[in-house]
Amino acid sequence: MVKNAGKRGKIKISGKLTVKQLEKKADDIRKNTVDIVVKNGAGHIAPSLSSVDILTVLYYRIMNVKPDAEEEKRDRLVFSKAHGCYGLYSILADKGYLKGKDWQSFYKGSFLSGCAERSVKHGIEAGCGSLGHGLPIATGMAFGAKLRNRKYRVYCIVGDGEMQEGSNWEAIQFAVKHELSNLTIIVDHNGLQAMDFLEEILTPKGRKDDLQKKMRGFGAEVKTCNGHNIKDMVDNIEGWSRTKKRGRPPRALIANTIKGYGLKCMENIPKFHFRIPTDKELETGKRYE
Ligand SMILES: [Mg+2]
Repeated sequence: MVKNAGKRGKIKISGKLTVKQLEKKADDIRKNTVDIVVKNGAGHIAPSLSSVDILTVLYYRIMNVKPDAEEEKRDRLVFSKAHGCYGLYSILADKGYLKGKDWQSFYKGSFLSGCAERSVKHGIEAGCGSLGHGLPIATGMAFGAKLRNRKYRVYCIVGDGEMQEGSNWEAIQFAVKHELSNLTIIVDHNGLQAMDFLEEILTPKGRKDDLQKKMRGFGAEVKTCNGHNIKDMVDNIEGWSRTKKRGRPPRALIANTIKGYGLKCMENIPKFHFRIPTDKELETGKRYE
């Protein structure tokens, strides 16, 4: 159980966590997420687990988060792969933006939806149930910040499958054209989309660097990393933060992840996209305490 779980109005903003603390926090979030969603019978556990480490790095180390979720100077996170939002809910409850009882009753009467819906006062910046919309929204936010000379940054987590949507590529063109270096895109690159592998849908066989090449070709500044290696992600994102030069393109970090990471029974197995593990499957083991 995550301590400090949400009593909205008593927000706890701690300092930046160390890499070791982040690793522990990510495990706590994983455990809390699995405990609640399995108990409550919700699906979409696997796509939620692939982005837990990414979210933990952003919320507990990188982003400028504020006690008031609507504070103008806050950094924004748009979570575009919104059906995989359970890790996000767990973090928002841990931070205190969501009440603990609302998260604990998720899927059992809570107002929280299976897809994250916009509720800025609870820390959810955009509703992205229909895929391919989060990045255009985040690009608009970053453009608005640049026009008004605001210093906050905009982060957008997108799924690799949803990068097939043309709206994302229009957004990247716009962000490159307008030099939106205040926009950081993080691709949860788990190699799966819904119930199949990307290479069985639109990604050419054997082209593991397909997204990297395409995004670079569109003009973004692209890096790749291990999306379950906290230090790797911190080093990459903080390395960008130290670059003060203006007039740079948007940044894109392609984080290689494993769908279902943390529960060995479902890792990289397509059928678990929306399937709840049985008690026997859970006995296969976990990657967290
Ligand atoms: Mg995917």
